[in-house]
Amino acid sequence: MQELLERKKGLRRSILIVDDDYIAREILGTMLKDMYEVCYAENGAVALDIIRRDKLKLSLVILDLHMPEMDGYSLLKLLRADNELRRIPVIVLTSEKGAEVESLKIGAADFIAKPFDMPEVICARVGHSIELAEDSVIIHETERDELTGLFHKEFFFQYGKRLDELNNNMPMDAIIVDINRFHVVNELYGRGYGNSVLKTIGESLHELVSRTGGLACRRDNDQFCIYLPHSDDIRDKLPLYIKMIDERINDSNISLRFGVYSDDGSENGMEHRFDCAWLACRKLRNSYVSCFEFYNDEQHSKELYAERLINDMDKALSEKQFKVYYQPKYSITGDKPRLSSAEALIRWFHPEFGMVSPGQFISLFEENGLIQKIDRFVWNEAAEQIRQWKDKYGINIPVSVNVSRVDVFNSHLVSILENITELNGLDNSRLLLEITESAYTDDSEQIIETVKKLRRRGFRIEMDDFGSGYSSLNMLTSLPIDALKLDMKFIRGICENQKKARLVGIMIDIARLLQVPVIAEGVETKEQMEMLKNLGCDIIQGYYFSKPLPPEEFGALIEKEIKENDYAYN
Ligand code: C2E
Ligand code: CA
Ligand code: CA
Repeated sequence: MQELLERKKGLRRSILIVDDDYIAREILGTMLKDMYEVCYAENGAVALDIIRRDKLKLSLVILDLHMPEMDGYSLLKLLRADNELRRIPVIVLTSEKGAEVESLKIGAADFIAKPFDMPEVICARVGHSIELAEDSVIIHETERDELTGLFHKEFFFQYGKRLDELNNNMPMDAIIVDINRFHVVNELYGRGYGNSVLKTIGESLHELVSRTGGLACRRDNDQFCIYLPHSDDIRDKLPLYIKMIDERINDSNISLRFGVYSDDGSENGMEHRFDCAWLACRKLRNSYVSCFEFYNDEQHSKELYAERLINDMDKALSEKQFKVYYQPKYSITGDKPRLSSAEALIRWFHPEFGMVSPGQFISLFEENGLIQKIDRFVWNEAAEQIRQWKDKYGINIPVSVNVSRVDVFNSHLVSILENITELNGLDNSRLLLEITESAYTDDSEQIIETVKKLRRRGFRIEMDDFGSGYSSLNMLTSLPIDALKLDMKFIRGICENQKKARLVGIMIDIARLLQVPVIAEGVETKEQMEMLKNLGCDIIQGYYFSKPLPPEEFGALIEKEIKENDYAYN
């Protein structure tokens, strides 16, 4: 590059004149030799040898089209196809009109008609062609990554957008190519080897886009972008592209991942498409074989939604967007069902998304520990609620709250819960704790310890979702629990499916063995309720009695209960 700029400033350029006509060579040479170093060749074959030898020095070739051995057309085609020789501009000498167009088409920079024009005109044409070619080399070098010869990112996006405009937003696919564990390749085999891999990928991608149309760039150290005219069968083509590149790299330690945004007709800009392709690419774990992933709009919206919920949680807590609902549990052991307790279930009234159900955010918050904040909020609310109902109706309605897996591992759990009950003047036995069965199977020792501590302090524990967590009978008998809550999925279909009914019967037997009551949740119909009653189930929770209710509505339920049943809760 530096060398080129120097040359541009004042060096005498070299020109090769190729013509089998001696007189023509001499006339041209005489016109040009004051300003240029001139050398000659009498046919294409000789010229090619000289060009190959002096390729760095030559600034221009003036080429006659009709010659023996190798004619001008053949030489011109050869030069254009050669990566190293392509930069040297060629002016053709013609005597027929049609040949001018033909030679421009196959890559001549200009033409000079025979017989020759005035020397000034010829000198001007020669000077102009050289300058243009040198400028384009300078542009080429700043636009392109030195190692791979592909565009730099900035120019890639600039040209890509221009391409979109020129082609009237023809559909284009965006693909990101990333090398798995490239830093390891560099560390293990050295940067030189790493560079040769990058170069091979660069060449392959260059070839690919020359074949399909489109553009390629090196985006980052070990990352490439390709922007290709959309093809409906890109899924079939990609494995072929990958195979082609893998074969060229020819090293089983090196694998690539491809993130693909396939144009779906939505009018996304080029940068957005590559962002999407990158999202898809990120999904792929480092793998030992090359593979690809397509960007999926629906999946992406889900991720964005999840991210929003996570980001919005703190604000939602402080702005009181979370509300606790209460679903009644009824005891069915007597003649008439009786309200026995309630489960506190959280609801999120999001200002933008409306009611978001816990099914959508609980597992999300469990993954990152945010659930602890939610749970503590619910425990506080529930305890306060028990207190309020007690004050208003004079009866104690125990409320169960969900205790997540992460809570169990919090060494302050007992004191946190005791602070809450104490603050609300409640006996610990009023706040029931639901812990899902699968938490027990995860780390049974730790959980059994925690549960024992809680029980010693007077809290009562219900094992939630029983039947789905694979507890062994052996473990169950050593478990310190106060109630078994059957997983909802066993209740669904219990009336139609004898096997399910048998299974529930067995689980109820286990509860008998452990001497704890059984709660069935998700009970929606009278038949289910009656069947469960016959099987010996003690408590029922489900839509059959009531959906989870806001506290005011639950209050009305208590009033009704007090009116209809002339007894008081303890
Ligand atoms: P879960 O603890 O098993 O709660 C029971 C779920 O079943 C609740 O869903 C309840 O609304 C629903 N349900 C009750 N009766 C019926 C019925 O008859 N039919 C059907 N189809 N469903 C019924 P919800 O409120 O959407 O909660 C889903 C899950 O989210 C809960 O399952 C629980 O694991 C979790 N969750 C809810 N609130 C909290 C909370 O405050 N903290 C924690 N850690 N988890 C919570
Ligand atoms: Ca529960
Ligand atoms: Ca449950």
